[in-house]
Amino acid sequence: MIEMINKTTFAYSPFFLNNEAGFNNYTDSLKIIEKRLTDFFKENNQPYSGKKPHEIEARLNELSLGSIKGETLEGVAAELAEFVINDSINVHSPTCIGHLHCPTLIPAVAAEMIISTLNQSMDSWDQSSTATFIEERLIDWLCTQVGFSDKADGIFTSGGTQSNYMGLLLARDAYCKRVWDIDVQQHGLPTEAKKLRILCSEAAHFTVRKSAAQLGLGEQAVITVKTDSNHRLSIDELNRQLMILEEQDLLPFAVVATCGTTDFGSIDPLHELSAAALENGLWLHVDAAYGGAMILSRDFKELINGIEQADSITVDFHKLFYQPISCGAFLVSDRNSFQYIQHHADYLNPQEDEEEGMVHLVNKSIQTTRRFDALKLWMSLKVVGLDTFAEMIDYTCHLAREVAAKINKAEGFSVLNKNPELNAVVFRYNPEGKSDQLVNLLNKQIQQELLKSGRAFLAKTRFDGQVYLKMTLLNPMTKLEHIEEIIDEIRVLGEMFKMMEE
Ligand SMILES: *Cc1c(COP(=O)(O)O)cnc(C)c1O
Repeated sequence: MIEMINKTTFAYSPFFLNNEAGFNNYTDSLKIIEKRLTDFFKENNQPYSGKKPHEIEARLNELSLGSIKGETLEGVAAELAEFVINDSINVHSPTCIGHLHCPTLIPAVAAEMIISTLNQSMDSWDQSSTATFIEERLIDWLCTQVGFSDKADGIFTSGGTQSNYMGLLLARDAYCKRVWDIDVQQHGLPTEAKKLRILCSEAAHFTVRKSAAQLGLGEQAVITVKTDSNHRLSIDELNRQLMILEEQDLLPFAVVATCGTTDFGSIDPLHELSAAALENGLWLHVDAAYGGAMILSRDFKELINGIEQADSITVDFHKLFYQPISCGAFLVSDRNSFQYIQHHADYLNPQEDEEEGMVHLVNKSIQTTRRFDALKLWMSLKVVGLDTFAEMIDYTCHLAREVAAKINKAEGFSVLNKNPELNAVVFRYNPEGKSDQLVNLLNKQIQQELLKSGRAFLAKTRFDGQVYLKMTLLNPMTKLEHIEEIIDEIRVLGEMFKMMEE
């Protein structure tokens, strides 16, 4: 048996061998992939090929999933280019302006190579000897940038969903400890927990509701507060809701402020919210998945003043920090808050290690095995530089203001957020004297046709029951001319569909 094991060689070794053949396999493979990707970008500056979902599905169903003998990477790459790469959404296109879905920075893409090649795991120090400290340094930097004190701490996450969940989890458990002296981690929720309530604006992200459901409170625990004319949480409405909750003998424990709502990019009044949170003993979680990037801005940094008064903060890097998916962070103003998710496992992060000063980041995460995503942010900040980051982000915010003004002046259009705070513009083609029903249909058809022609990818959304189009102007390579062309195209399509419907 030993004999046989020693003699075994594989037809193909896909591993890093410490020899010439291993190194060549690595570099040759990368070259093949690079060529396929650069060919795609050379031929495509449009957001999409225009294929319908069922066409894509039918094509992909023909692809074999595996191979008995193995195929060459070159052959597989050619097949993938034809079937996968060429019909992907091109996030680098300057007219791919639908969702909060960004083009990626080249240094961050290069960092992804390091991340997956070194494959460090962030749960315990002995799986991420240097990576642990890079992540810690970046968390410290972020805490300073948002204006937290040196008691603050944080962790990289898979994104806003996870960060929002963590914020509400810690808020819930801190409340149960403080008010009822109950350790939820050990004993679960008390029956009184049925009365717990979370407040957020009606424009808050749906993951607030999802988190409440997963935290055993039910979506019923989320009380939505009306927004003002700028789509920001209304403090008067918040106070009214708090009074109603008190009358009903219900127990608000957290308020979520959105710093950059998904549709409008609007920012809730952070100072007033933190005052209200303090007065009512609420945990203030700031969902800055989108607006957190303003820490890098020069012209718009003051928009997020007040964020430093949060108990916890969500920031996404795979949005306005231009990082490959996934990359986000969760920050707390007091590192002791992480006690509610600590668990010591003998094999991974035993208590004695901590006493000896060993750093195991699993203590601060709800994930165990975790990617070294901090590296790509670090490489981006260094290679791009803070000056260029500020210029790029500021450019997109200035562009959005310009675009909103332009569309607002254009005949047959209306803009919902005439003064965008970040860089999203919500509007619709709205020819005079037409019913809402027809206008809704026209805008839906326009959105689909733009994508089908491959010319532009805009998102569609609903506000007050009506259909709107949305431009999320994250890409600093998007120029005003691109937008003017899209507006002209929308008008032509709108006229055409209008005649077809009438
Ligand atoms: C995108 C977004 C989220 C969700 O974050 P993911 O990274 O997609 O998990 C939460 N809140 C806001 C405001 C967002 O824009």
